[in-house]
Amino acid sequence: METLRIAVQKSGRLQENSLNLLKESGLHFNNGNGRLKTQAENFPVELLFLRDDDIPQYIEDSVADTGIVGANVFVEKQKQNELILPLGFAKCRLSIAVPRYENYRDTYWLQGKNIATSYPNIVKTFLKKNNIEAGIHEISGSVEIAPGIGLADAVCDIVSSGSTLVSNGLKEVETVLESEAVLIASTKLSSTKKQILDELIFRLQAVQKAKDNKYILMNCPNVAIEAITKIIPGMKSPTILPLKKEGWSSLHSVVDENDFWKKINQLKSLGAEGILVVPIEKMIV
Ligand code: ATP
Ligand code: ZN
Repeated sequence: METLRIAVQKSGRLQENSLNLLKESGLHFNNGNGRLKTQAENFPVELLFLRDDDIPQYIEDSVADTGIVGANVFVEKQKQNELILPLGFAKCRLSIAVPRYENYRDTYWLQGKNIATSYPNIVKTFLKKNNIEAGIHEISGSVEIAPGIGLADAVCDIVSSGSTLVSNGLKEVETVLESEAVLIASTKLSSTKKQILDELIFRLQAVQKAKDNKYILMNCPNVAIEAITKIIPGMKSPTILPLKKEGWSSLHSVVDENDFWKKINQLKSLGAEGILVVPIEKMIV
């Protein structure tokens, strides 16, 4: 029996969320602290623990079949990898930053300057798109100190809150790429491996969908059922159960996490009471 080899980050920001997502998808494995690989107990899957930056190359070389990396790494490496599914965590952006005191107006400021970055390919593409010629100085860590020590005029680096930039006297001036963790895969999987991957994708999507939604229960006057159904139609339609109290029902549905608070207010104004909201573990539509 073939197994699908999934590469996850050996240590770092992606690791915990990657492993949790696989566990929530029903894969059982021991974390294999410090080990190079571990076999799932109940699914034809093997996990490989690798440096995130190396994962696209390992997938291209068919050492791994699929893996979880930041979109920034996937785009930068330009390997023979296919983007399968965005995973919704490790959200960050790749931005250009310049010294705070610079009077930056638009990308033309970068013309003829030197940009320090760990993402030369992404920066090259960005400069080309903006018709700018600039030098790229590739460094692998602590990019944000480059302007301060006179190594470059600007940087292109990962930003989440921006506090690292500020503490190095820099300001963010352009977003080059929005990133989050993504599932990527080899473009040349056997049909058996493809089947295992499809099953995994199905499960990951069920977990994601569940996270984006909540199960909602409430008591409502029967006259409000139609209006409430319009607000929270659920997967097919709400479930209605009669209450013992004349003229009232219990209504169950599913609501999107994002417009949850807005909808709660609408439901209350229609007379809904005793509203309960509970998490969903898996959701298959
Ligand atoms: P190394 O390879 O040396 O372990 P790294 O920067 O590649 O360092 P991490 O810091 O663990 O490793 O980052 C892994 C990925 O997490 C990045 O490629 C990026 O997609 C994402 N990421 C990085 N910084 C942040 C952040 N501040 N907030 C959210 N996601 C981030
Ligand atoms: Zn890395």
